[in-house]
Amino acid sequence: MSEQTLQVSVRALVGFSVFPPDILPISRSLMEQGRDAHLARQQESLARSEAMLTWAQTMDGLAVRVSGRMDLFDDSKSPPVIEEIKLSPIEAPTAPAPEHLLQAVCYGFMLCERDGLDSVDIKVCYVTREGQITAAFLERFDKARLDAAFLDLLRPYVAWQKRLLAHVTARDDSLRTLPFPYAAYRPRQREMAKQAYTAISRKRRLFAVMPTGTGKSAAVLYPALKALGQGLTKKIFCLTARGTQRIAMQQEIDRMIAQGLRLHALTLNAKESLCPMEQMRCHPDYCPRAKGHYLRQPDALMEALSTQVWGSAFIWEMSDKHQLCPFEFSLALCEIADVVICDYNYAFHPQVRLTRIFDSLRKLTLLVDEAHNLPDRARDMLSGSITISQLRAFRRESGKLHGRTSGIYKALSQFIKLLPQEEGADYTPVQTGITSLLDALGTGYTPGVMHLVRDLVSLGSALTRAQEALDDYVIMNDAEATKGGLTVLNLNPAPHLFEVTRRLSGCVFYSATLQPLSAMRLLLGGEMEDACLSLPSPFPEEHLLTLHMPLNTRYAARETSLMPAAQAILALFSAHPGKMIAYFPSFAYLRAVGEVLEGLAPDLPLNIQQPGMDEGSRIQFLDAFLQDDAPVLGLCVLGGVFSEGVDLPGKALTAVAIIGVGLPQVNEQNNRYRARMEEAMGDGFGFAYRYPGMHKVLQAAGRIIRSETDRGVLLLLDDRYAQADYQALLPSHITLNRVSSIEEITQSARRFFAQD
Ligand code: SF4
Repeated sequence: MSEQTLQVSVRALVGFSVFPPDILPISRSLMEQGRDAHLARQQESLARSEAMLTWAQTMDGLAVRVSGRMDLFDDSKSPPVIEEIKLSPIEAPTAPAPEHLLQAVCYGFMLCERDGLDSVDIKVCYVTREGQITAAFLERFDKARLDAAFLDLLRPYVAWQKRLLAHVTARDDSLRTLPFPYAAYRPRQREMAKQAYTAISRKRRLFAVMPTGTGKSAAVLYPALKALGQGLTKKIFCLTARGTQRIAMQQEIDRMIAQGLRLHALTLNAKESLCPMEQMRCHPDYCPRAKGHYLRQPDALMEALSTQVWGSAFIWEMSDKHQLCPFEFSLALCEIADVVICDYNYAFHPQVRLTRIFDSLRKLTLLVDEAHNLPDRARDMLSGSITISQLRAFRRESGKLHGRTSGIYKALSQFIKLLPQEEGADYTPVQTGITSLLDALGTGYTPGVMHLVRDLVSLGSALTRAQEALDDYVIMNDAEATKGGLTVLNLNPAPHLFEVTRRLSGCVFYSATLQPLSAMRLLLGGEMEDACLSLPSPFPEEHLLTLHMPLNTRYAARETSLMPAAQAILALFSAHPGKMIAYFPSFAYLRAVGEVLEGLAPDLPLNIQQPGMDEGSRIQFLDAFLQDDAPVLGLCVLGGVFSEGVDLPGKALTAVAIIGVGLPQVNEQNNRYRARMEEAMGDGFGFAYRYPGMHKVLQAAGRIIRSETDRGVLLLLDDRYAQADYQALLPSHITLNRVSSIEEITQSARRFFAQD
C-alpha cells in the first residue's frame, strides 16, 4: 500500500458517522464486563471468532483500505451469519443500537465483496458478563442494502480525510522550502539538529545535554518538522514538564509560521484548567456542554481547519461558540494536529496518555524537554496511594450530603475495612474493592470526587503493575510511611519509559542538565544503540566565576552551618550589591539562614520565597528582579518554582549562592528507590540522590548566564563539591575556585565585577 492509502478500521469508520451524542464517564468496570461478555459468548458459540476481513478500493481518487474482525462468523449456515457481540444493559434492549448494527453490516458488505455472496444474515447479540443472551436481533441483508449502508458510511469519511490530506500536501510543500528560523545556526546548534534528524529517521532515541543559549527549541523542532514533511513521522509531540516551556515552543512555531510554514499546532492543556463549569461533573445530567457534545463537534472541527495555531484562546473561543467541552474538543483536535505541545502526562501517564493516538499510530516523534524531570515524574505516574484519613474525610462529606445509609457511604466504609494492615497481604480484595467503590462513587456527587476517583484508579493500576513486575515496585502499608493506607511505589521507571518510546519515529530527550548522560539514558529507558550528545555552553567561560567554599551542610551539622552560610551569602551580595538569589535545600534551612542574615544586616533587601505561592505572588517576586536596578537578595529553595524555567537575563541576576548539593530528603521511600537502583543500575546512591540533587544545583546555577553578554558569580557552599563523584557531574564551563574565608569571597567577587 502506498503512503496515500487511507487505512481505517470498521469501528473507526462507523464511529465517524454514528456515535452516542453525550460525553459520559468511562466506567472501568463496564469495560471489563464488556471484555468478559465477548469472551464468554465466543467460548460458548461453535462459530469462528475474530475472523479478519479487509476491503480495498479507490474512492474519489483515494485508495481506501477498511479492515476489522468479526466477533463471530458462522459459515456453516447459508447464507453465513455474522454476529456482533455487545454487553447487555441492565434492561435488555428492544432493538439493536445503530452503531452496533452498522459494524456488523460493514462486515457483511466486506464478506459479500470477498466471497461474491448475494446476502448475509446479520445478528446483534446482547449478552451478560457471563455470556447469557438477553436480546438477539437477526436480520437478512441483501447485497444492494449492504452496499448502500457501507457507502453511506464511507463517503463522508473519505470526504473528511481528503480535506485532511489536502492540508498535509500544503504542509509538506511549505516544509520543503522552510528555512531555519534564524539567520544563522548558533555554535553546535546545527550538530544538534542533525543528530535529532538522524534519531527520527532511524527511529531511535537521542539523549542530549543542551546548555542555556544553544537554542534548544529550534534545534529539535526544525529537524522534526523536516522529517514530518518527508513522511518520516506523522505527528510531533513536544512534551514539557511546565507551562513556561510550552510557551517557548509555541513561539518557535509562530516564528516558522511567519516564515511560510503551514501546519496545525495544538497546545493541549489540563482538563481542570480548561473546564468552564463551576463544578467539573462530566455528565450530561450536570454539564450542558457534555450533553450533545459529539453532535456539535464535527462543525467545530471543520471550522478549526482554517486556523493554524490551536492555543488556549482558540479552544475557548470555539468551545463557547459551539457549546463544547473544551477538553474533549482539544482531544479531538489532537488527532488531526501535526504538532501537539503538552505535558509529559499525555504520553507517559498510564491513565492519562492519549491511547487513541499512541495505540494506533506508531509514526510519532517525541521531543522531551527538560528531560531530567521525567524519571521522577514517571515514577509518580506509575505509583498510587490512598490514605485512610483521605477516605474518612471524603466519607464524612458524603454522609452529610447523601446520608450514612447511602450506597456511597457504605462502599467507602467497606473499602476502608479492606485496606490490609500488613505488608505482603493478598491485594486481590483491594482491587475488587476499588472497582466496586468506583461504581458507587458514580451514583452521586460529592465535592472532591474527581480527585478520589483519580487516586483510586492510579492505585488500582499501580497494584496491577506491581503484581506483574514485583522487583520494580514496593507495596507499603506501614502506617508511618503512608499515614494509614496503602502506597504502591514505583522504584524503576526505565522499563515503562522503554516500552512507551520503543518503535516510535524518534524520541529526543534533552535538557541543560542531563548528566551523566549514559546513566540517564539507562534510567530514561534508552538502549546502547541510542546516541548521546553533550554540547558545551556557547557563552564565554570567563563570564562565570565559580567560587567554592567547603562547608558541612549535612542535616546533622545544620545548626553550625547557619552562621558561615549567612556570612558567605552576605559577603557575595555586599561585594557587588545587585540582584542575587541564594538557594537552600529546604524551607526550614532557608528560614533559619534568613533569620541569621536579618540579624547580621537588618536593612538587607530580602525577597523570600514562601511555600505554595500563587501565580500573582510569583510574578510579584520576579518583578523585584526584572523591574528596576535596586539591589535585592532572593532566598529560594532548590528545585522550587524559582530555580528552573525562570529567565532573569542581564542585570536581573548577577550572583547565585547554592547551599548544599540538592540531595532529596533521606526517607524510607527514597531508600527503597536507592536499593532498587543499586540492584538494577549498579549505582543506587547516584540515581536516588546524587544525580537528582545535582540536576537541581545545575538548574539553579543556570539562572545566571542567560546570554552572551551576561556575567556573574556562582558561589557553591558545601564540602562535597570537592569530591570526584560530584565534580564529575559539573559541566565544563563551571570551574571551581576554592575559597577558604569570607574575605576571599568578597575580594574575588569584587575583582570579577570590577571588570564590568
Ligand atoms: S465542560 Fe467541564 S464538566 Fe463539562 S464535560 Fe467538559 S470538563 Fe466536564
